Amino acid sequence: MTTYLWNPPAVQSLPVRGKAERLPVNRIFCVGRNYHAHAVEMGRPVDKSVERPFYFTKSPQTLVQSGATVAYPPGTTNYHFEMELVLVIGKPGFRVPVERAHEIVYGYACGLDMTRRDLQLVARDKGRPWDLGKDVEQSSVCSEIVPMEGTVIDHGAIELSVNGHVKQSSDVDKLIWNIREIIADLSLFYHLEPGDLIYTGTPEGVGPVVAGDKITGRVEGVGEIALNVGPAE
Ligand code: MN
Repeated sequence: MTTYLWNPPAVQSLPVRGKAERLPVNRIFCVGRNYHAHAVEMGRPVDKSVERPFYFTKSPQTLVQSGATVAYPPGTTNYHFEMELVLVIGKPGFRVPVERAHEIVYGYACGLDMTRRDLQLVARDKGRPWDLGKDVEQSSVCSEIVPMEGTVIDHGAIELSVNGHVKQSSDVDKLIWNIREIIADLSLFYHLEPGDLIYTGTPEGVGPVVAGDKITGRVEGVGEIALNVGPAE
């Protein structure tokens, strides 16, 4: 039996609707610039005819369950919300063809890809990695997982409000690279595994939060998410 110097880190996990068992989370992938209007507001429009999707990752240790209160993070004065549909992988997949992509879908969730926008943009403009902007402690917020094995979501309202005021309102049918295309493309680079989460990108309307803000969001046909922003530590 293997013994360790100290207790190994806990397995990151999320509740699953209708089940007693929690879903163990493997990796967290995020798709960048996957709604045209958001790509434009970031000053980087996307031409799908000549571009490929791109990705970044966030540590599973950044995961926070919906309903939590998180401290305003250190090192930023421009902490942003990004409402996203989260795709949950349920089976191994490598070089998955578009037409078979549905076979490895376990389900979906609502997610917030919270971002230190000031640090992300400095990194972007200097050609540096995005980690300080994106791989932020407690920044990968996720709702309960909704089991929908083999289902491809191709439409549905996606919305986010801060303190009851609507900030983001779009539809998942506006994804530049859809669920099938994301699975097919990402699996060219990674052996996808059960428990991998893929944040599929945010629509336009991203913006900052301050201590005391209450974020609520929903994806039609999936569910709801909430996050409270507390004071800085
Ligand atoms: Mn995002």
